Amino acid sequence: MTPRQQELLEQARQAAYQAYAPYSRFRVGAAVLADGKIYSGANVENASYGLALCAERAALAHARVHGGEKIEGIAVYCLDAPADESGAIPQDLALPCGACRQWLAELAPEAWLVTNASPTPYRVADLLPHPFRLTR
Ligand SMILES: [Zn+2]
Repeated sequence: MTPRQQELLEQARQAAYQAYAPYSRFRVGAAVLADGKIYSGANVENASYGLALCAERAALAHARVHGGEKIEGIAVYCLDAPADESGAIPQDLALPCGACRQWLAELAPEAWLVTNASPTPYRVADLLPHPFRLTR
């Protein structure tokens, strides 16, 4: 992980403290690096569970509405992910859900993704190799 990726992950960690997760108690923060600027987001749940918004989509929307179009990378930090018996957080616990992968495929297809559960960056294209695409 590069120093820039570590910095983005730290921004994601700080954003996770702003999560609204009274139901899952699984706070997640995300930070998007776009056009040299950082845009953060956190998960926001709702009593109507299906209306919950993931941190990744919150951060992507944040970047988009503030003009961040060329997304270079995204960091995801799961504050409450439980460690296994070795003390490590299982990698799958910090990876984006399917809906977020679809958002990433459309808004950040060339981006890398780092999490607090893996020292190795992922590529968005590897996380969702065959996304839905609608011809514009
Ligand atoms: Zn998601």
